[in-house]
Amino acid sequence: MTRRLFGTNGVRGIVNSEMSIELAMDLGRAIGTALGGRLAIGMDSRISGEMLKCAVSAGLMSTGVKVFDLGMLPTPALQYYVKARKLDGGVVITASHNPPEFNGIKCIAADGTEMAREDEERIERIFFDRSFVVKEWDRVGSLHHQSDAPNLYLDSIVRHVDKDAIRKASMTVVVDCANGAGSITTPRLLELLGVRAITLNCNPQGTFPGRPSEPTEESLSDLIALVKKTSADLGIAHDGDADRTIFIDENGAFVHGDRSLALIARSIVKSRGGGLVVTPVSTSRCVEDAVIAIGGQVKYTKVGAPIVARVMKSTNAVFGGEENGGLIFPEHQYCRDGLMTVAKMLEIISKEGRLSSLLNEIPRYSLIKGKVECRNGIKQDVMAQLCDRFREKAIDTTDGIKIFFDDGWVLIRPSGTEPIFRLIVEGVTEANAKRYFAEFKTMLHEIIQSVNG
Ligand code: MG
Repeated sequence: MTRRLFGTNGVRGIVNSEMSIELAMDLGRAIGTALGGRLAIGMDSRISGEMLKCAVSAGLMSTGVKVFDLGMLPTPALQYYVKARKLDGGVVITASHNPPEFNGIKCIAADGTEMAREDEERIERIFFDRSFVVKEWDRVGSLHHQSDAPNLYLDSIVRHVDKDAIRKASMTVVVDCANGAGSITTPRLLELLGVRAITLNCNPQGTFPGRPSEPTEESLSDLIALVKKTSADLGIAHDGDADRTIFIDENGAFVHGDRSLALIARSIVKSRGGGLVVTPVSTSRCVEDAVIAIGGQVKYTKVGAPIVARVMKSTNAVFGGEENGGLIFPEHQYCRDGLMTVAKMLEIISKEGRLSSLLNEIPRYSLIKGKVECRNGIKQDVMAQLCDRFREKAIDTTDGIKIFFDDGWVLIRPSGTEPIFRLIVEGVTEANAKRYFAEFKTMLHEIIQSVNG
């Protein structure tokens, strides 16, 4: 197997252990060798951000790159800057929703999208072969601090929503930025949109003292309590680098990401009089139901935001996204954007009504996720057996195997990075989701055992 450096979301590891300054500098050299030219660099609020940013920047400059240091900002703000300023690419120092001891390095392509796997492989080859091309002493690159990226980004978001409708609704929201990079921009966005913002964990702090950076129902208990206490119209929560947003309705109920995806998809398709929505095969059927009911279409892709973004671009889709709250608005940019998601949701509420009643119109299913251990060497044989067993059934093999039933579906996917199969099950009721889950978990175990001999 070829050695891999980049996982599904860049290179990640524990700081000063796997994620060392030596690795960061060599990766900077490899990225600089592969991309060259003018590159942006930025970071989330992690304590190690500045240290790793300096190491990557030094590596980049040794290969002659002109580095634009954007400081601390959301990942989508850096992506927008790369696209708007026509740079050759970018690097973000972030571990997104991972705990604070982690950090990561993620590459952005010249069009502002997350880098395609083929381009990451090119960087990996240079990294492992140490075939860096460093410049002569008088041709090394330079570093330029830029402070205009957040405003440039916010201007684009405000331009893409009905600002007057939002302002007129005179809403109050509670916003929880997890002490992450969203702290730099989301309170400012709400101010620009004329929304009264009550802030929680909106001071950047690299240990994430307020709550874990992954927005879950458990980690958002303070936000939920504050929405109820202040009778706010909406609760907003980002992950650490603010490419994702999770909402709390006006009654303090946690809204799963697939339901906000369905709601926003429905509104966009309705306003365009049709159109294509792109989402991975792992997304709840509620999205398809909501979109098809109003004359739109849904295209399913492999799991992963960069893939969703690329398919959206090639099919001219009107909207797309993932069930984890990472939504993509093509008129603004082709990447997950937590702040654009906030602005769009505010626009929808201001025009269509309260969030809880809008969500009542979205069909409700029960989704269960789990994993089954399986060593990498036999995954292909296990997949072949699964496909053979269900070849008479309605299946989709876009990513792993998805088997459709009248009252739900089952998705089994081999993980690309871990020795596991992911098992996702959806049913019309919780009871039948549980039944499918138990049934398929047992079956998968049996197949793995028989292949193992
Ligand atoms: Mg993130």
